[in-house]
Amino acid sequence: MRIGLIGGMSWESSAEYYRLLNELVRERLGGLHSAECLLLSVDFAEVERLQVSGEWERAGELLAAAARDLEAGGAELLLLCTNTMHKVADAVAGAASVPLLHLADTTAQAVLGAGVREVGLLGTAFTMEQSFYRDRLAGHGLSVWVPPADDRALVHRVIYEELCLGIVREESRAAYQEVIGRLVDRGARGVVLGCTEIELLIGQEHSPVPVFPTTRLHAEAAVDLALSRRAP
Ligand code: GLU
Repeated sequence: MRIGLIGGMSWESSAEYYRLLNELVRERLGGLHSAECLLLSVDFAEVERLQVSGEWERAGELLAAAARDLEAGGAELLLLCTNTMHKVADAVAGAASVPLLHLADTTAQAVLGAGVREVGLLGTAFTMEQSFYRDRLAGHGLSVWVPPADDRALVHRVIYEELCLGIVREESRAAYQEVIGRLVDRGARGVVLGCTEIELLIGQEHSPVPVFPTTRLHAEAAVDLALSRRAP
């Protein structure tokens, strides 16, 4: 099954997707096996401009066009490689006749699979403050906590000013660890790294509770599905 990636948001995490898909296929099939995939990488500056100006419908059209192009190129399964842009997941899914594997669903399944029900959520301000992502997680039976305003601003700033530009700073890692610590104090039993770049900064070794890295979990779910449909 050929996987179509709607990427570029940012390309720092799309590169992770590409690496993970190929590593996972090699682990499972061995030898020189690698992932059959297509990557359509958009210009993130344009997407970020639409986010800031609240032009979500236009952003949805842009990503819907990407979905159509990937399907025309032979993609049989689509991944939208960003948590934030799942705000327009319905527009993207509706544009193609092949399935879109929703990132919040693959995340929620992993959280529940780990026996966790109360999670903290880190991501962009859009993901933490608007309901589209939290509600999707809650729909799976999870209780979701987001950090207080100051912490949200810090988490958001580090994503756009550092991680999306490939900058990984020790001070930012320490600041994220403090944010995680405060979520844990409030009762979070796990933390969703709900932005596809956060796992470039935070790993399991940086958290006292399980972390759920959404890029890796999304890639794993895609490989599970793609290999289950593989021709014998
Ligand atoms: N990659 C990020 C996410 O997963 C943020 C970039 C974006 O706004 O798409 O939300």
